[in-house]
Amino acid sequence: LDAISKADSTVCSFITVDAEQALAQARAVDARIASGGTEGLGPLAGVPLAIKDNICTQGTRTTAGSQILRDYVPTFDATAVSKLRAAGAIFLGKTNMDEFGMGSSTENSSYKPTRNPWDPQRVPGGSSGGSAAAVAARECVAALGSDTGGSIRQPAHFCGIVGLKPTYGRVSRYGLMSYASSLDVIGPMTHSVEDAALLLNVMAGGDPRDATSSGQPVQDFTAGLRHSSSSSGSCSSSSSAAAAGTGSSGSGSSSRPLAGRRVGLVCETLGEGVAPEVEAAVRAAAGHLQQLGAEVEEISLPTFGLGLPAYYVLALSEASANLSRYDGVRYGARAPSAADLASLFCGSRGAGLGGEVKRRILMGSYALSAGYYDAYYKRAQQVRTLVQREMSGALQRCDALLTPTAPTPAYRLGEKASDPLAMYKGDLMTVNVNLAGLPAIVLPAGYVRVPAGAAAGDAAAGEGVQLPIGMQLIGRAFDEAGLLQLAHVYE
Ligand code: GLN
Repeated sequence: LDAISKADSTVCSFITVDAEQALAQARAVDARIASGGTEGLGPLAGVPLAIKDNICTQGTRTTAGSQILRDYVPTFDATAVSKLRAAGAIFLGKTNMDEFGMGSSTENSSYKPTRNPWDPQRVPGGSSGGSAAAVAARECVAALGSDTGGSIRQPAHFCGIVGLKPTYGRVSRYGLMSYASSLDVIGPMTHSVEDAALLLNVMAGGDPRDATSSGQPVQDFTAGLRHSSSSSGSCSSSSSAAAAGTGSSGSGSSSRPLAGRRVGLVCETLGEGVAPEVEAAVRAAAGHLQQLGAEVEEISLPTFGLGLPAYYVLALSEASANLSRYDGVRYGARAPSAADLASLFCGSRGAGLGGEVKRRILMGSYALSAGYYDAYYKRAQQVRTLVQREMSGALQRCDALLTPTAPTPAYRLGEKASDPLAMYKGDLMTVNVNLAGLPAIVLPAGYVRVPAGAAAGDAAAGEGVQLPIGMQLIGRAFDEAGLLQLAHVYE
């Protein structure tokens, strides 16, 4: 809580800090230890977490970054939250986000923009920008994000942390405010791969309250890491090893711990439109994986670029239906003194929803409307199938696919805020993973020094700032264990 009070006036990671409930949870852990020792304590006892503000927390305000939910206090926990609670975790508060997850910079929050801890003049990414910044600024040990088209992974890349998007259905969506139900998933944002595995261990599993959650068996995701590395202890904060490029990763018995693993470097995600420093970091990562024994080959996924337009048709179509529940009747803010039902709906939604959300509801409704359904929604579903097949095919030949996470490192606040298409284009490398329902992890791969975003004359401007660059590894459906192991050896 002290760390938050020091950092958050600059970083603005939190919409709500719930000190009272965090201290109550902490005291409960202390009391258990006092009465019975550490025996029987949950695996996350006393670990302070931050939760993205579109994930319901009983008794703590949950706004999804929107004014329409500014006074909404859920009467229940999301399943992921109740599992973390049972494991002994402590919830510090709720993190800032693009309204309803719609954005890539956290500038679409109706409360305030969050700032990147590496350079406060830059965005932290989005939509889980508050969670990423909170972890990077060490305001919490780890955080939950949600990922519909990259919202865990892209901010992890911008903020130099680890972000895991689990397989669709691996973690229950019960209590996650829906953006696009066929794409949404909750996942961990952490300092290390091991921490991501620890959180996934607790959250994963089928849930009778979410019919799309999967009953696939849940392994101990940390067990595989112990075999692959000599690092020990929980909640470690290991630094990124990429820059070292030594080929030794603390891998225990073998100096080539990835021998026999095949990684496909997706050539459509490199070259034109990608910042040279991003491409260089990802190619260096490929080299490092080779030194660790992996076979890395460049592969081509010709339909890769079709994913982005298909994603925006499908995500917005689903959003237009999902967001119809915010009508001023059942949840949150209601227009005062409406004369009839239509003006109650219009007044509540008109005042409570932000510009980007309205734009997306309009586009989604348009794509689903009778005359256009075949041309847009149906066609996008067909493209989704193509992308899915192509990626699954590649993952039969490769154990994982390697790509950048986004075309550039973190950009300046305001740089893309008034150009929605430029913002959408930044999601090119992450959305296909959601279309295909696959797991993917982003972890630090390198750093670049750039001129500070600060105003001219600022002391920091002369020296420039260092920005992190993350790489993305995409795995086979429900093989988070294999993906985490690969990432852990690299790390
Ligand atoms: N930036 C993407 C969008 O705006 C993805 C957001 C997300 O994953 N929630 O739709």
